[in-house]
Amino acid sequence: MLPTFRFAPSPNGYLHRGHAFSALLNARAADRTGGRFLLRIEDIDRTRSRPAFEAAICEDLAWLGLRWPEPVLRQSERFPAYQEALAALDRLGLLYPAFLTRAETNRLVAAGERAGRAWPRDPDGAVLYPGPERDWPESRRRAAMADGRPYALRLDMKRALAGLPALSWREEDPLAEAGDGALFEADPRAWGDVVLGRKEVPASYHLAVVVDDAHQSVTHVVRGLDLRPATAVHRVLQTLLGLPEPLYFHHRLILDADGRKLSKSRGSQAIRALRAAGSTPAAVIAGLGL
Ligand code: GLU
Repeated sequence: MLPTFRFAPSPNGYLHRGHAFSALLNARAADRTGGRFLLRIEDIDRTRSRPAFEAAICEDLAWLGLRWPEPVLRQSERFPAYQEALAALDRLGLLYPAFLTRAETNRLVAAGERAGRAWPRDPDGAVLYPGPERDWPESRRRAAMADGRPYALRLDMKRALAGLPALSWREEDPLAEAGDGALFEADPRAWGDVVLGRKEVPASYHLAVVVDDAHQSVTHVVRGLDLRPATAVHRVLQTLLGLPEPLYFHHRLILDADGRKLSKSRGSQAIRALRAAGSTPAAVIAGLGL
Protein backbone atom coordinates (compact mmCIF):
# COMPACT_ATOMS: atom_id res chain seq x y z
CA MET A 1 0.00 0.00 0.00
CA LEU A 2 1.33 3.45 -0.95
CA PRO A 3 2.17 5.39 2.24
CA THR A 4 -0.29 8.29 2.22
CA PHE A 5 -0.03 11.34 4.50
CA ARG A 6 -2.31 14.35 4.69
CA PHE A 7 -2.44 17.85 6.08
CA ALA A 8 -6.05 18.82 6.81
CA PRO A 9 -6.47 22.48 7.76
CA SER A 10 -9.78 24.22 8.42
CA PRO A 11 -9.96 27.42 6.34
CA ASN A 12 -11.14 29.66 9.16
CA GLY A 13 -7.95 31.66 9.61
CA TYR A 14 -4.36 32.02 8.45
CA LEU A 15 -1.77 29.28 8.93
CA HIS A 16 0.53 29.76 11.90
CA ARG A 17 3.87 28.15 12.70
CA GLY A 18 2.15 25.16 14.31
CA HIS A 19 0.31 24.36 11.10
CA ALA A 20 3.50 24.82 9.10
CA PHE A 21 5.27 22.32 11.39
CA SER A 22 2.50 19.77 10.89
CA ALA A 23 2.38 20.20 7.11
CA LEU A 24 6.17 20.01 6.77
CA LEU A 25 6.36 16.89 8.93
CA ASN A 26 3.73 15.15 6.80
CA ALA A 27 5.42 16.17 3.56
CA ARG A 28 8.84 15.00 4.78
CA ALA A 29 7.45 11.69 5.95
CA ALA A 30 5.83 11.20 2.54
CA ASP A 31 9.18 11.98 0.86
CA ARG A 32 11.10 9.70 3.15
CA THR A 33 8.73 6.75 2.58
CA GLY A 34 8.26 7.34 -1.15
CA GLY A 35 4.60 8.06 -0.46
CA ARG A 36 2.03 10.77 -1.17
CA PHE A 37 1.34 14.05 0.60
CA LEU A 38 -2.28 15.22 0.30
CA LEU A 39 -3.92 18.49 1.23
CA ARG A 40 -7.50 18.27 2.47
CA ILE A 41 -9.65 21.29 3.20
CA GLU A 42 -11.84 20.69 6.29
CA ASP A 43 -14.57 23.22 5.62
CA ILE A 44 -17.75 21.63 6.96
CA ASP A 45 -18.27 24.59 9.28
CA ARG A 46 -19.91 26.87 6.71
CA THR A 47 -20.19 29.77 9.14
CA ARG A 48 -16.45 30.00 9.80
CA SER A 49 -14.88 28.76 6.55
CA ARG A 50 -13.87 31.32 3.92
CA PRO A 51 -12.57 30.73 0.36
CA ALA A 52 -10.10 33.56 0.96
CA PHE A 53 -8.54 31.62 3.87
CA GLU A 54 -8.33 28.50 1.70
CA ALA A 55 -6.48 30.47 -0.98
CA ALA A 56 -4.16 31.97 1.65
CA ILE A 57 -3.43 28.52 3.12
CA CYS A 58 -2.45 27.16 -0.30
CA GLU A 59 -0.28 30.19 -0.98
CA ASP A 60 1.53 29.91 2.37
CA LEU A 61 2.11 26.16 1.95
CA ALA A 62 3.49 26.72 -1.57
CA TRP A 63 5.76 29.48 -0.21
CA LEU A 64 7.12 26.94 2.29
CA GLY A 65 8.01 24.74 -0.69
CA LEU A 66 5.21 22.18 -0.38
CA ARG A 67 3.43 20.59 -3.37
CA TRP A 68 0.36 18.35 -3.43
CA PRO A 69 -1.87 16.70 -6.04
CA GLU A 70 -4.83 18.71 -7.39
CA PRO A 71 -7.75 18.85 -7.11
CA VAL A 72 -7.75 18.94 -3.33
CA LEU A 73 -10.60 17.30 -1.46
CA ARG A 74 -13.00 19.75 0.15
CA GLN A 75 -15.20 18.35 2.89
CA SER A 76 -18.03 20.71 1.94
CA GLU A 77 -18.33 18.68 -1.28
CA ARG A 78 -18.55 15.36 0.55
CA PHE A 79 -21.89 15.60 2.33
CA PRO A 80 -23.45 12.59 0.50
CA ALA A 81 -20.62 10.35 1.79
CA TYR A 82 -21.13 11.56 5.37
CA GLN A 83 -24.89 11.09 5.01
CA GLU A 84 -24.24 7.48 4.03
CA ALA A 85 -22.03 6.89 7.07
CA LEU A 86 -24.69 8.41 9.33
CA ALA A 87 -27.31 6.17 7.76
CA ALA A 88 -25.11 3.11 8.44
CA LEU A 89 -24.75 4.09 12.12
CA ASP A 90 -28.47 4.77 12.32
CA ARG A 91 -29.21 1.29 10.96
CA LEU A 92 -27.11 -0.06 13.84
CA GLY A 93 -29.42 1.87 16.21
CA LEU A 94 -26.53 3.97 17.55
CA LEU A 95 -27.71 7.54 16.83
CA TYR A 96 -30.21 9.74 18.59
CA PRO A 97 -31.39 13.31 17.98
CA ALA A 98 -30.30 15.63 20.79
CA PHE A 99 -32.23 18.85 21.29
CA LEU A 100 -30.56 20.59 24.23
CA THR A 101 -28.51 23.63 23.23
CA ARG A 102 -25.06 24.10 24.76
CA ALA A 103 -26.48 26.77 27.09
CA GLU A 104 -29.30 24.46 28.21
CA THR A 105 -26.84 21.63 28.79
CA ASN A 106 -24.55 23.88 30.83
CA ARG A 107 -27.49 25.15 32.90
CA LEU A 108 -28.70 21.63 33.60
CA VAL A 109 -25.24 20.44 34.63
CA ALA A 110 -24.58 23.57 36.72
CA ALA A 111 -27.85 23.06 38.60
CA GLY A 112 -26.89 19.45 39.30
CA GLU A 113 -23.41 20.48 40.44
CA ARG A 114 -24.83 23.10 42.81
CA ALA A 115 -26.83 20.26 44.32
CA GLY A 116 -23.60 18.30 44.75
CA ARG A 117 -23.78 16.03 41.70
CA ALA A 118 -20.41 16.30 39.91
CA TRP A 119 -20.63 15.92 36.15
CA PRO A 120 -17.81 14.71 33.89
CA ARG A 121 -16.06 16.88 31.28
CA ASP A 122 -14.61 15.58 28.03
CA PRO A 123 -10.88 15.90 27.22
CA ASP A 124 -11.57 19.34 25.66
CA GLY A 125 -13.24 20.51 28.88
CA ALA A 126 -16.86 20.47 27.64
CA VAL A 127 -19.52 18.84 29.85
CA LEU A 128 -20.65 15.42 28.65
CA TYR A 129 -24.09 15.53 27.07
CA PRO A 130 -26.67 14.39 29.62
CA GLY A 131 -28.73 12.69 26.88
CA PRO A 132 -32.32 12.94 28.12
CA GLU A 133 -33.44 11.81 24.62
CA ARG A 134 -31.36 8.61 24.67
CA ASP A 135 -34.24 6.41 25.74
CA TRP A 136 -37.10 8.16 23.95
CA PRO A 137 -39.25 5.82 21.88
CA GLU A 138 -38.92 6.14 18.10
CA SER A 139 -42.30 7.86 17.78
CA ARG A 140 -41.29 10.65 20.17
CA ARG A 141 -37.95 11.12 18.37
CA ARG A 142 -39.67 11.38 15.02
CA ALA A 143 -42.26 13.84 16.27
CA ALA A 144 -39.61 16.06 17.86
CA MET A 145 -37.50 16.04 14.68
CA ALA A 146 -40.52 16.91 12.54
CA ASP A 147 -41.33 19.77 14.88
CA GLY A 148 -38.70 22.01 13.26
CA ARG A 149 -36.39 22.51 16.26
CA PRO A 150 -32.66 22.26 15.56
CA TYR A 151 -30.95 19.11 16.77
CA ALA A 152 -27.63 17.28 16.69
CA LEU A 153 -27.28 13.60 15.89
CA ARG A 154 -25.25 12.04 18.68
CA LEU A 155 -23.61 8.65 19.01
CA ASP A 156 -25.00 6.60 21.88
CA MET A 157 -21.49 5.82 23.10
CA LYS A 158 -22.45 3.29 25.75
CA ARG A 159 -24.52 1.29 23.32
CA ALA A 160 -21.83 1.55 20.62
CA LEU A 161 -19.12 0.26 22.95
CA ALA A 162 -21.28 -2.58 24.27
CA GLY A 163 -20.77 -4.42 20.99
CA LEU A 164 -17.05 -3.71 20.59
CA PRO A 165 -13.82 -5.16 21.99
CA ALA A 166 -11.37 -2.83 23.78
CA LEU A 167 -9.88 -0.55 21.13
CA SER A 168 -6.36 0.78 20.72
CA TRP A 169 -4.17 2.44 18.13
CA ARG A 170 -0.51 2.42 17.23
CA GLU A 171 1.71 5.48 17.10
CA GLU A 172 5.02 5.67 15.28
CA ASP A 173 7.12 8.73 14.52
CA PRO A 174 7.37 8.57 10.71
CA LEU A 175 10.78 10.24 10.79
CA ALA A 176 12.31 8.09 13.56
CA GLU A 177 14.00 4.73 13.32
CA ALA A 178 11.56 1.89 12.70
CA GLY A 179 10.36 -0.05 15.72
CA ASP A 180 10.05 2.75 18.27
CA GLY A 181 6.25 2.77 18.19
CA ALA A 182 3.81 2.55 21.09
CA LEU A 183 0.31 1.19 21.56
CA PHE A 184 -2.37 3.47 23.05
CA GLU A 185 -5.55 2.24 24.68
CA ALA A 186 -8.58 4.16 23.48
CA ASP A 187 -10.78 5.79 26.12
CA PRO A 188 -13.85 6.81 24.07
CA ARG A 189 -16.11 6.86 27.17
CA ALA A 190 -14.33 10.06 28.19
CA TRP A 191 -16.04 11.82 25.25
CA GLY A 192 -19.59 10.69 25.96
CA ASP A 193 -22.20 10.93 23.21
CA VAL A 194 -20.24 12.89 20.59
CA VAL A 195 -22.01 14.89 17.87
CA LEU A 196 -21.76 13.20 14.46
CA GLY A 197 -24.15 15.35 12.46
CA ARG A 198 -26.61 18.19 12.67
CA LYS A 199 -29.99 18.91 11.24
CA GLU A 200 -28.51 21.13 8.51
CA VAL A 201 -25.04 19.53 8.14
CA PRO A 202 -24.76 15.73 7.94
CA ALA A 203 -21.29 15.70 9.50
CA SER A 204 -19.05 16.67 12.37
CA TYR A 205 -15.25 16.79 12.56
CA HIS A 206 -15.07 13.24 14.00
CA LEU A 207 -17.27 11.70 11.32
CA ALA A 208 -15.80 13.56 8.33
CA VAL A 209 -12.20 12.86 9.33
CA VAL A 210 -12.61 9.07 9.52
CA VAL A 211 -14.74 8.85 6.38
CA ASP A 212 -12.24 10.91 4.38
CA ASP A 213 -9.08 9.29 5.74
CA ALA A 214 -10.53 5.99 4.49
CA HIS A 215 -11.78 7.48 1.21
CA GLN A 216 -8.33 8.91 0.45
CA SER A 217 -6.53 5.71 1.56
CA VAL A 218 -4.61 7.64 4.21
CA THR A 219 -2.21 5.19 5.84
CA HIS A 220 -0.54 7.65 8.29
CA VAL A 221 -2.33 10.30 10.33
CA VAL A 222 0.26 12.81 11.56
CA ARG A 223 -1.20 15.74 13.52
CA GLY A 224 -0.78 17.74 16.72
CA LEU A 225 -0.76 16.28 20.23
CA ASP A 226 -3.96 18.21 21.04
CA LEU A 227 -5.84 15.74 18.82
CA ARG A 228 -4.49 12.58 20.46
CA PRO A 229 -7.48 12.08 22.80
CA ALA A 230 -9.91 12.42 19.84
CA THR A 231 -8.27 9.36 18.26
CA ALA A 232 -10.30 7.22 20.68
CA VAL A 233 -13.52 8.44 19.01
CA HIS A 234 -12.00 7.91 15.57
CA ARG A 235 -11.13 4.30 16.37
CA VAL A 236 -14.72 3.67 17.49
CA LEU A 237 -16.13 5.12 14.26
CA GLN A 238 -13.62 3.26 12.08
CA THR A 239 -14.56 0.00 13.79
CA LEU A 240 -18.33 0.57 13.56
CA LEU A 241 -18.10 1.61 9.90
CA GLY A 242 -15.66 -1.15 8.91
CA LEU A 243 -12.94 1.34 7.84
CA PRO A 244 -9.21 0.56 7.88
CA GLU A 245 -7.08 1.65 10.84
CA PRO A 246 -4.28 4.07 9.92
CA LEU A 247 -1.02 4.39 11.81
CA TYR A 248 -0.96 7.54 13.98
CA PHE A 249 1.60 10.03 15.17
CA HIS A 250 0.72 13.04 17.35
CA HIS A 251 3.57 15.52 17.22
CA ARG A 252 4.71 18.12 19.75
CA LEU A 253 2.92 21.46 19.66
CA ILE A 254 4.69 24.66 18.70
CA LEU A 255 4.29 27.19 21.53
CA ASP A 256 4.51 30.96 21.54
CA ALA A 257 7.06 32.94 23.55
CA ASP A 258 4.79 32.69 26.64
CA GLY A 259 4.60 28.92 26.34
CA ARG A 260 1.00 28.99 25.11
CA LYS A 261 -0.40 26.90 22.26
CA LEU A 262 -0.60 28.93 19.05
CA SER A 263 -4.09 29.94 18.04
CA LYS A 264 -5.61 31.29 14.85
CA SER A 265 -7.93 33.58 16.76
CA ARG A 266 -5.05 35.35 18.50
CA GLY A 267 -3.37 35.64 15.08
CA SER A 268 -0.28 34.02 16.60
CA GLN A 269 2.73 34.00 14.38
CA ALA A 270 0.88 33.70 11.10
CA ILE A 271 3.09 32.54 8.24
CA ARG A 272 1.94 35.56 6.21
CA ALA A 273 3.04 37.92 8.94
CA LEU A 274 6.48 36.28 8.97
CA ARG A 275 6.61 36.56 5.18
CA ALA A 276 5.61 40.21 5.30
CA ALA A 277 8.30 40.87 7.88
CA GLY A 278 10.90 39.56 5.42
CA SER A 279 11.42 36.04 6.76
CA THR A 280 12.42 33.28 4.33
CA PRO A 281 11.04 29.73 4.09
CA ALA A 282 14.42 28.40 5.20
CA ALA A 283 14.35 30.61 8.31
CA VAL A 284 10.81 29.55 9.22
CA ILE A 285 11.72 25.89 8.76
CA ALA A 286 14.91 26.25 10.82
CA GLY A 287 12.93 28.09 13.52
CA LEU A 288 10.67 25.07 13.82
CA GLY A 289 13.65 22.83 14.54
CA LEU A 290 13.19 20.90 11.32
N1 GLU B 1 -9.00 20.10 10.58
C1 GLU B 1 -8.35 19.82 11.82
C2 GLU B 1 -7.69 21.09 12.33
O1 GLU B 1 -7.47 22.02 11.55
C3 GLU B 1 -7.27 18.74 11.72
C4 GLU B 1 -7.85 17.39 11.61
C5 GLU B 1 -6.88 16.23 11.63
O2 GLU B 1 -5.70 16.39 11.30
O3 GLU B 1 -7.35 15.13 11.93
O4 GLU B 1 -7.40 21.14 13.50
